[in-house]
Amino acid sequence: MKVGVPKEIKTHEYRVGLTPGAVREYVAAGHTVVIETDAGVGIGAADQDYRKAGAAIVGSAHEVFVSSEMIVKIKEPQPSEWALLRENQILFTYLHLAPDPEQAKGLMKSGCTAVAYETVSDARGGLPLLAPMSEVAGRLAIEAAGAALKRYAGGRGLLIGGVPGVQPARIAVVGGGVVGTHAARMAAGLGAEITILDRSIPRLRKLDELFEGRVRTRFSTIEAVEEEVFAADVVIGAVLVPGASAPKIVTRSMLSSMRKGSVIVDVAIDQGGCFETSRPTTHADPTYEVDGVIHYCVANMPGAVPLTSSHALNNATLPFGLALANRGLAAALEDPHLRAGLNVYRGRLTYRAVAESLGLPF
Ligand code: NAD
Repeated sequence: MKVGVPKEIKTHEYRVGLTPGAVREYVAAGHTVVIETDAGVGIGAADQDYRKAGAAIVGSAHEVFVSSEMIVKIKEPQPSEWALLRENQILFTYLHLAPDPEQAKGLMKSGCTAVAYETVSDARGGLPLLAPMSEVAGRLAIEAAGAALKRYAGGRGLLIGGVPGVQPARIAVVGGGVVGTHAARMAAGLGAEITILDRSIPRLRKLDELFEGRVRTRFSTIEAVEEEVFAADVVIGAVLVPGASAPKIVTRSMLSSMRKGSVIVDVAIDQGGCFETSRPTTHADPTYEVDGVIHYCVANMPGAVPLTSSHALNNATLPFGLALANRGLAAALEDPHLRAGLNVYRGRLTYRAVAESLGLPF
């Protein structure tokens, strides 16, 4: 199959769809790989590294799209990219369509087959292509909170771990999946006081075992969220209902009860956010303030550490991308886990939660 990788064009997105190491695997399996010039500069991979791995380099995204049967990317295609997609072309990337009706319509109109990383599943009911970026984002969430808590950044002037004799920050993590667990792990390492809230009792049991008493767990009711938000210096939003828009768990009235200079990091912003007051921000201007509370809502957090993120993501996407290239679309989609990634096919939405969120036919 002819596989193409354009340079990412979303603001401050430096990751790349295929690393040179992944290109070598496609080439070894007999595929042709075309890379847009400079696609790998954000991770320190030069055109020459891709050539050495067996790829051809072309000068524009247009040439990549025209010459490829499958496009491998990182972020959802931007409007200039929807226009380049065509019927029967496979698009393999993150899409996050539920909060993005314009993109959904753009992809439906193109006639392409869009397989979304975030809904590909595994045998344990997990989301193997979301997990590595969730690990990165969860860990970064605590770094972001630490930066926003600094006085000069508008925060309370609090050191997350405190020092001996001085209280550390209280951190509430709403959603104890991959993001929540990795945020809690970083926060625990720094010495914070942490509560994780989740709706899944098996998940709370697992977290309780994992952290051996270092982290408190609470079942996530309106009352529990209200109490924890009220007491917190930092709230991390990390819920997910797969494919659907994030439920608004923290309301504006809860937010207004927080101390001035407290911080929220809404990692779930890529699914619309789980705070009523969240709106997407970028790495160029990551925070804003509502009711005295600093909001950090960057929708592509792992883009800040493209080297770690590109390698972590390629490790996870490679077997699925190779399955699509080796077996062809129809045969590859017989695998129920890859089939779960299919979001758009022949002009229609094929993922129920996405269609329901957008109010479009399934
Ligand atoms: P996950 O499925 O591993 O975990 C989500 C958790 O939320 C689950 O444990 C689930 O039980 C819990 N949950 C669902 N509804 C809840 C509720 N009402 N109250 C409390 N908990 C609830 O998902 P994840 O991989 O941790 O991802 C979390 C979010 O972070 C997703 O929206 C994902 O897209 C997003 N994400 C964002 C970025 C970014 O750059 N901003 C990067 C990676 C992931």
